[in-house]
Amino acid sequence: MNDGITILLVEDSITDAEMIERELLRDGLSVRVERVDTRAGYLSGLAQGCPHIILSDFSMPDFDGLSALQIAHEQYPAIPFIFVSGTIDEDTAIAALRGGAVDYVAKSNLKRLAPAVRRALEESRTRLARLHAESRFSDLIEFAPGAIVVINAQGLIEIVNARTELLFGHARNEMLGRPCDMLVPGGFAPAALPPGEQAYSQRPPVAGFETQGRRKDGSAFPAEINLSPLKTESGWWTSGVISDISARKAQEQQIARLNRIQMVLSNISSAGLRIAEPDALCLKACRIAVEHGQFPIAWIGMMTPGSCEGTLIAWYGIDDKNIGRVRLTLDPQAPGAAHPACQAVRTQRAAVCNDIAAEPHMAALLPTALRLGMRSLVALPLLVDGDVEGVIVLYSAETQFFNQQEMLLLTQLAADISFALEHQKNQQRLRHLAFFDNVTDLPNRALFQERLTELLVRSEAAQAGQFALVLIDIDRFRNINDSLGRAAGNALLKEVAQRLLVANPAPRFVARIDANCFALIVQCGVDGAEVAQLLEPTLALRMAAPFALMGKELRLSFKAGIALYPLHGNAADTLLRNAEAALYNAKRSKLPHLYYNAAMNARIAEKLAMENRLKLALEQHQFVLHYQPKIDLASGALIGLEALIRWDEPGQGLIPPNQFVPLLEETGLIVEVGKWVIAQAHWQYQEWTARGLAPPRIAVNVSPLQMREINFVNQVLHILARADPSEIEIEITESMLMDDLDDNIEKLKLLRAAGITVAIDDFGTGYSSLSYIARLPIDTLKIDRSFVINMAHSADQYQLVSTIISLAHALKLKVVAEGVETADQAVLLKQLSCDQIQGFLYSQPLPARAIDAMLTERQANAPCTAAHVQLNYDNLAIG
Ligand code: C2E
Ligand code: CA
Ligand code: CA
Repeated sequence: MNDGITILLVEDSITDAEMIERELLRDGLSVRVERVDTRAGYLSGLAQGCPHIILSDFSMPDFDGLSALQIAHEQYPAIPFIFVSGTIDEDTAIAALRGGAVDYVAKSNLKRLAPAVRRALEESRTRLARLHAESRFSDLIEFAPGAIVVINAQGLIEIVNARTELLFGHARNEMLGRPCDMLVPGGFAPAALPPGEQAYSQRPPVAGFETQGRRKDGSAFPAEINLSPLKTESGWWTSGVISDISARKAQEQQIARLNRIQMVLSNISSAGLRIAEPDALCLKACRIAVEHGQFPIAWIGMMTPGSCEGTLIAWYGIDDKNIGRVRLTLDPQAPGAAHPACQAVRTQRAAVCNDIAAEPHMAALLPTALRLGMRSLVALPLLVDGDVEGVIVLYSAETQFFNQQEMLLLTQLAADISFALEHQKNQQRLRHLAFFDNVTDLPNRALFQERLTELLVRSEAAQAGQFALVLIDIDRFRNINDSLGRAAGNALLKEVAQRLLVANPAPRFVARIDANCFALIVQCGVDGAEVAQLLEPTLALRMAAPFALMGKELRLSFKAGIALYPLHGNAADTLLRNAEAALYNAKRSKLPHLYYNAAMNARIAEKLAMENRLKLALEQHQFVLHYQPKIDLASGALIGLEALIRWDEPGQGLIPPNQFVPLLEETGLIVEVGKWVIAQAHWQYQEWTARGLAPPRIAVNVSPLQMREINFVNQVLHILARADPSEIEIEITESMLMDDLDDNIEKLKLLRAAGITVAIDDFGTGYSSLSYIARLPIDTLKIDRSFVINMAHSADQYQLVSTIISLAHALKLKVVAEGVETADQAVLLKQLSCDQIQGFLYSQPLPARAIDAMLTERQANAPCTAAHVQLNYDNLAIG
């Protein structure tokens, strides 16, 4: 580093100059000295010699040291300047140093010169390097992309860059030297630092934090500051890079806001599923909007059903009673109609007011809004099933709060509340369906039972209140339903319900608990006397009046079953069960109503057991058919067989049909059993035929329930399959035909077209007239046994049977007399030209095997004669 030090030496004395050079060389410095002693020589030495250092004498004849110093300082400030002088007083020395000299050395003490030169060169080199670096550094700062503010240990601004001017709006000189809190209130200390440590005496921390920046115009903006320490000659400074983070903050806020609304949405959805009452749901929705959505105020108004007005039903975030006064209206002229809430219900669209103060039509609302600190609001219609049911209104303390994205989510929010309300409404509908009969709108069985239980608890507590549970059943309701149609049936049920409601002072306790069963509760004395009073004159009279149905007048009869509390039970299900038992028995009796008694239940239990046994019987083939011959009266020949079912239950012997067929019908089992009967008769016919026995047509009894099956005809034809359908006749009772006449006529026509014949069973017991028989597609009339019994004693009955027979013949129908037990009866019937007889006189119903012999005889073409009858019934004879 010592090589080639160029020295410009300002010295008039050559001797001194040589002495100086020698001294420097002696000290090991490699120097090249150029001596000058005039201003001109000095200037050219500076310009051309590019000296590393200037050594100068103080006074010379043609030049002087201070001028040299001044020139050097102004034009070449980087070149160190040292005075080397013989005499120098203190004042001069001070002036020299002030003028920029780095040192002075007395010629009398030249030993100091070399170290002084060395140090001066060293310092100059460092200063140069630093200057160099500083200029690069200041460029870096100046053009850095962020606003850079460097503050010193006292917190005063030392450096700012162009960005800082731009960001804060201050000119550079307005900032330099001023405390940094002019830009950042609170200074550069992260909030976490205690105030005392805001000015750093030691190395300041590296830190980044968010704070507020303040512009020259006083406006604030969110700022982020990143601090780093800076070591300077005067200690540790702090460099801060300040960024305006408004955009990022706005974005963050927007995201937070949208998140909030999302929170609101999901909370409302789940509330909607949990809360059953609309008012509670609305309150919850408002509360969620305030607590999770951070809307300061939320309220919900609902339109009054069937009106153009609505009221607030829930609000949250405000404790102002005035809010409850807001009125919703659909009328655009009504006062307050300009309120966004009213707009929203009118237009079915969201209505926004993003600056309450700026909207003239909000003037009326403004004072309240301002008092509450509200600046904007949105009103969103709540649509249920496509109709506006209400509106939710949300307020914000900011203007322009409800932007597009926000609205998108808020629309979703309104849709969610709407959905929840709709869900509730559906739940209510379902609840209604679950607890009310949809035809009469009366409570159903479940609700009635619930209310009955409540009543029992109350009665028990009060130790009072006797009452009767009355069940009422419309006689033959099923027939009405079937013949007049469901709509008529429903109309009738409504009318009955109406009459019961009017007749009963406690309408809460009128219910329809079954298709054809109404329930009432009647307060009464312990003996049920008042029930009888109510049932007989009041209720019975009301019900006795004809019902107008589809232009017809219909008189109905009713059956009632009655259970008394507490006499017949003190639990809802016991009372109901007992009343049902009473009703069941009433329906099978001739009495209009029956009170429960203990024996009834036993019978019902028996019936249930029987039902199970019957199911088993069907599965285990316990049914058998017996066959009763029909005899041609003229020839005495076997002309037909009637298949009659018996139940061969193991250990019970043969059970006759009147002990189980009614139950089969009641339970519907008859449909399956009936199919079996036809199949079995068919099989028997085939079996006899296969054995060459040529059986006559077999008649099977068909229950009304079988006939009612839609595909009854197909079922029968399917069972008979390829067989000759002329092997089968069906017997149906006349009353059953009446039930659904047109439909039955169709079915019978189809059966007859296939070769099956039809007989009307038990003729004369029903209410149909002979004239109507003319319309039926039938082949045979079977006169009921009761006529056959009575005709021998009563002229009227005889006359009746005679008329039936002759009219039937006129209609080309065969006549069979049932239950002929005596020869007298047979004689009379023969006189009246009855075609066939069936009865114990000839034969009881017999098992198939027992019929074999008769068939063989018939085969042999031997006519069934009186002699044959006598074989069986010795004491009887017909002729
Ligand atoms: P129904 O169709 O009127 O059958 C005639 C009934 O009168 C039979 O009673 C028969 O045994 C009885 N009977 C016949 N001749 C005489 C007589 O001279 N004197 C007396 N006292 N009775 C006589 P059963 O077999 O007990 O059948 C009773 C009823 O059960 C039948 O009356 C019929 O309505 C029904 N039934 C029988 N089998 C079936 C069946 O397979 N299906 C259906 N749906 N009902 C059946
Ligand atoms: Ca019959
Ligand atoms: Ca009969």
